[in-house]
Amino acid sequence: MKVLKFGGTSVGSPQNMRSVMKIITDNEQKIVVLSAMSGTTNVLVEISELLGKKNRETAGILIGKLEAGYRDVVDSLYTRDDNKYKGLQIIKSSFEIIKSFTSGRFTQTAANTILSMGEILSTKLFTLLMEENGYDVKLLPALDFMRIDEDKMADMKFISDNLKRTLNEAGYADYYITQGYICRNANEEVDNLQRGGSDYTASLIGAAIDADEIQIWTDIDGFHNNDPRYVENTQKIDQLSFFEAAELAYFGAKILHPQTIYPARVQNIPVRLKNTLNPSDPGTIITSETTGKGIKAVAAKHGITAIKIRSDRMLMAYGFLKSVFKVFEKYKTPIDMISTSEVALSLTIDNTDNIKKIQNELDKFGTVEIDYNMTIICIVGDIIGEERGFASKVFNALDGIPIRMISYGGSRYNISILVPDSHMQRTLKAISNNLLNNNS
Ligand code: ADP
Ligand code: ASP
Ligand code: MG
Repeated sequence: MKVLKFGGTSVGSPQNMRSVMKIITDNEQKIVVLSAMSGTTNVLVEISELLGKKNRETAGILIGKLEAGYRDVVDSLYTRDDNKYKGLQIIKSSFEIIKSFTSGRFTQTAANTILSMGEILSTKLFTLLMEENGYDVKLLPALDFMRIDEDKMADMKFISDNLKRTLNEAGYADYYITQGYICRNANEEVDNLQRGGSDYTASLIGAAIDADEIQIWTDIDGFHNNDPRYVENTQKIDQLSFFEAAELAYFGAKILHPQTIYPARVQNIPVRLKNTLNPSDPGTIITSETTGKGIKAVAAKHGITAIKIRSDRMLMAYGFLKSVFKVFEKYKTPIDMISTSEVALSLTIDNTDNIKKIQNELDKFGTVEIDYNMTIICIVGDIIGEERGFASKVFNALDGIPIRMISYGGSRYNISILVPDSHMQRTLKAISNNLLNNNS
């Protein structure tokens, strides 16, 4: 069985929902994961933030506008009056839940419950559309099987056991529909897999049922060799390895949620990226195979924090790195890039929730300098195997760009560079023009 995920734009209008219905109804049984209609999660985030600040009036206005938009969707999505009525009931029940949080104490679970309504709405409305068109369809509630643990990591055993149970209880259907993004946490409260998490839902489901293929359908024809949001004339890549795709997704390629590749790689399930607006295009296929020579693609992750610890005690000392890393372990803060000299250590982190506490502890080791607003530029491909003089080619290409750190040689397949956020676009363009031979 295949798992197909459709993103926000793909289900962003009644017309697009009909296109999705056309794509999936090929008489092959499948599980379909849907995101919220485009824009909805952003508005729900705004509503939660306003309620968190007790700005109930503005929140109420946004809720009213969102609800009115959904009423229009229902009006043009269904042809039969009884389904228009059912559609309005779906909207009423979801918005009653949202409105129930506009008085009283506002908790994190209340916020997460509001955020979950986007996917609840899109899947219920889409399932009703499929029913109206005579398809054998069943809705699988993601909150019954999708789970994260105390560390916010996917609980694969729970997901696998409970997805199988949910499928059994639902009984046979040609098409199963479920919500992306939303889950429960270790306390069984409503939670989510972070923004863009529907991709991750699809790969977790794919791994749980040992799917033949995981397909991520979106608004572009596949994985491009540079970020189309910042650079013109990017090119689609036909094939990527799990490693290359994971690296690019982790370092900012928005087309895939950073954790999507891991479950697929573990089970060796191909991941295919496809364009909902052009379904016959084969898109990009991601498998265990590495093909091609030289640089394949680049991605950028901004808002990174660089920390430098300078200490004379580092000189000839063993155990120094361990003591530093223990601080990051204590505050559950992953480190992305590292570079050391005899008297200094530089590293980068993305999550700054505990930065003050980390800084206080690091102060014991030496002088600590922190630079915010940095970007990691991640270049992937068969890089070191390619040719001699590769590093100088990269340096020449980036002439004039203030490079703060470089990580080269950790793997044959990637090189990472740290630059200020203000130089991100310029760096991506320079890589396209000088290393990828695109004209941006
Ligand atoms: P969805 O709502 O379907 O999940 P996303 O907006 O999350 O869609 O992801 C698709 C978008 O990712 C594309 O429209 C594109 O702007 C952006 N993107 C960033 N980097 C890349 C890349 N390397 N290749 C393709 N798209 C990318
Ligand atoms: N709807 C969620 C978001 O906008 C999840 C997703 O689209 O993947 O982040
Ligand atoms: Mg996405």
